Amino acid sequence: MRGRVIRVSGQNFLVEVDGDQIQCRMRGRLKAGARATNSPVIAGDWVELTPGDADNAMIEEVLPRKSHFTRAASGSRNYEQIIAVNIDQLAIVASVRQPALRLGFIDRAITTALRGHLAPIIVINKIDLDCNIAISERVECYQALKYALFFTSATSGMGIEGFAATLENKVTAFIGQSGVGKSSLLNCIEPGLGLKTQEIMSRHDRGRHTTTAVQLFPLERGGYVADTPGIKELHLCGIYRHDLVEYFAEMAPFAENCHFRNCSHINEPDCAVREAFNQGLIAATRYASYLHIMEGLDRA
Ligand code: GDP
Ligand code: ZN
Repeated sequence: MRGRVIRVSGQNFLVEVDGDQIQCRMRGRLKAGARATNSPVIAGDWVELTPGDADNAMIEEVLPRKSHFTRAASGSRNYEQIIAVNIDQLAIVASVRQPALRLGFIDRAITTALRGHLAPIIVINKIDLDCNIAISERVECYQALKYALFFTSATSGMGIEGFAATLENKVTAFIGQSGVGKSSLLNCIEPGLGLKTQEIMSRHDRGRHTTTAVQLFPLERGGYVADTPGIKELHLCGIYRHDLVEYFAEMAPFAENCHFRNCSHINEPDCAVREAFNQGLIAATRYASYLHIMEGLDRA
């Protein structure tokens, strides 16, 4: 039998097989060689199972993963914690107000998404509070980059249908500052869904180890949404300073023409990226995000 792991809770796994949910354990040998802090089986994994007693099946094998959503584990900067795997896309939710729009957060989230091979989807919520042209100007850089961009209101329902359609038959993780309207959006898409994910999140806000109960919630119209407990801040890891520019698609092509091969595009002479920025070819907010993310990366 083959199934998709939808919840990991200690040594217990909930696996969906042809629409049925089965409680599973895993073969001890799967633990061999794995890093102690990360479970060898992660929410989102496709696994091979053998039926066991009662409704307790056994995970025999984990199939290769096509994407991974990670974060730096709290405490140690260089250890990467896998939160979920085989996620197709990352819905990056922000609001025009309450809390104020922070493009720095969006850019950081985009970088995280690209690094894990997830497609970024940008959702600007609460447009009922402010549908000023200035807002669309601030985010038009994302349109230029061809990332999916939605303007929504969970209160009025505006833009929800288009956003909901992009979730169909995809596995989508949500990220966004607290209060931007993630739960409200999920409730709009499917009544009760926001509540279910929120329960899990609040349980995990109290601390504890965050890999223990990531969950994928099946959508009625096909696909899953994944909660991302404990992700409030994105600490980028596994990106070398020199490689950061690759995650900024509008800057990367210029980087090839920099005088120094290891140019960081901050203050070196004959930097083609800075030159492009000075000519207005790169959005100021994007370059600012680049500098800000760079500051936080380890020197290497
Ligand atoms: P979360 O922390 O991201 O899950 O945010 P919530 O869904 O809990 O929403 C936070 C607050 O914003 C709640 O008071 C919601 O009623 C409100 N809210 C959510 N979406 C909208 C929206 O589109 N417009 C307005 N005006 N308020 C919203
Ligand atoms: Zn440069």
